[in-house]
Amino acid sequence: MKSPVFAGIDLAALPKNQTGLCLFDGRRFGCRTLYDDEAIVAFIEESRPRVVAIDAPLTLPRGRCCFDDACCGPRKIRTCDRMLIARGHRVFPPGFSFMKQLTLRGKAMKERLQGYEIIEVHPRTSLRILGPRAFPAAHNEHERDACAAALTAFLYAEGKCEVLGDDEGTVVIPRVR
Ligand SMILES: [Zn+2]
Repeated sequence: MKSPVFAGIDLAALPKNQTGLCLFDGRRFGCRTLYDDEAIVAFIEESRPRVVAIDAPLTLPRGRCCFDDACCGPRKIRTCDRMLIARGHRVFPPGFSFMKQLTLRGKAMKERLQGYEIIEVHPRTSLRILGPRAFPAAHNEHERDACAAALTAFLYAEGKCEVLGDDEGTVVIPRVR
């Protein structure tokens, strides 16, 4: 039987910028750099991962349907973001400048990948907890973050992560040993 595969996606806010992707089977990492949603979705559907970890906010702050303050709001930070910040991690919450576009793309990507177990991750926080490690399979910083995301997906399936947040949104981070 083929071993399960875990995917990491370091999603760019805009399709014109590099999105790093990584597949991890528990032993080896394999990376790709892609751009538009079609290519990213096709890549995931080809590899049928057990868990897909996305480095992007996948939900909007409670009470929001968009980021237009004339429509909804005023919340900018989710409880899960606050929990990460309270632990001393540096995160950019969904309601802040360039994060708005990334959040909308992340939310749409999650909706397109229905049928897969999708988790929101923060690779730099994962590496901060796990300690620095090299990913020789990565050709650029986005593929490196995608490796850390895929590793977090693997650890999550192994029961070695904690899930911060509530029904507003959750971020999965490795458990401190
Ligand atoms: Zn709205």
